[in-house]
Amino acid sequence: MKNIAIVSTGGTIEMLPGHGGLDISYHHNPLPIQGNVIPPFVTIEHIRFCSVPSPSITPEIMAQLCLKLEEMTLSGRYHGIVVTHGTDTLEESAFLADIYLRSAIPVVFTAAMRSQSEMGVDGPRNLRGALLTASRHEVHKLGVTVVLNDEIHSASRVTKTYTSNVSSFKSPGYGPLGFVDQDRILLQRKPLWRIQLPECKLKLNQRVGLVRTAAGLGAREIRYCADCGDRALVVEALGRGNVPPEAAEAVQYAVEQGTIVCITSRCYIGRVLGVYNYPGGGADLERRGAILAGDMQGQKLRLLLMASLGIGLTMKNIRKLFERL
Ligand code: ASP
Repeated sequence: MKNIAIVSTGGTIEMLPGHGGLDISYHHNPLPIQGNVIPPFVTIEHIRFCSVPSPSITPEIMAQLCLKLEEMTLSGRYHGIVVTHGTDTLEESAFLADIYLRSAIPVVFTAAMRSQSEMGVDGPRNLRGALLTASRHEVHKLGVTVVLNDEIHSASRVTKTYTSNVSSFKSPGYGPLGFVDQDRILLQRKPLWRIQLPECKLKLNQRVGLVRTAAGLGAREIRYCADCGDRALVVEALGRGNVPPEAAEAVQYAVEQGTIVCITSRCYIGRVLGVYNYPGGGADLERRGAILAGDMQGQKLRLLLMASLGIGLTMKNIRKLFERL
């Protein structure tokens, strides 16, 4: 038998219809843990970590969750852990767990796009897929994974792509690592490398901003973050890592104020690189002191920066860490 812990945090998988729409019921435990959701060779232990919609989950709560998961993975009690979470910020919590944990057992996040009151509910099936995945010992070598809609994704690459569809979770440019097919787990790919924080006690107490640029937009927002004293700032630039010229001046201003500025792209797929030399081009931004941060999604890069600063990494260390991205 495999002893799997289910750590629940809230989200649609726990929600029921209330008067004005879906909401969390604090009085029930409506996680769909019944019938054939639990495979016959699995025993479960349910631990309620919190019960909130995932837009209410802050980086501090994510850090607490990681510390709880670390304690559980080290306890020797479990063969695997499944975390249930709201889909809106699931990729952020799962990513933080992925860069922090050095787990010798599988840690698998899952969720539901539809509540248990809706037609074609996906929560029970996703939970079963996650339990099956967490029962396969070798899954821990893939890092933290995310299982929805019969697909197994790497937490480092997965993102919510669709507001409502059950096939929302995708890894653009990379694809899933494997699949759930009825009772079988088919693993097909293994990431060659993974970003990991140096061994540390996780702390997310540093403020890091996130600004998305658009045509003619970004300068005011970047200056605002610098003036608010953000330790670092992620700029989701255009294309290969370029911003409007005024935004480039704002990047320089932020750097001069002591804010670490990291550039990623608002494109779904691909790396940023300093190939353009015009005012606002990637090469120009590098000269102004910004760090180009590979192909990381802005919301994950922000957490990586928060965690890196929280454990005391310097600008030099951070540059080095990001050189690999
Ligand atoms: N808004 C919900 C949440 O993230 C969506 C979901 O769980 O699917 O909590």
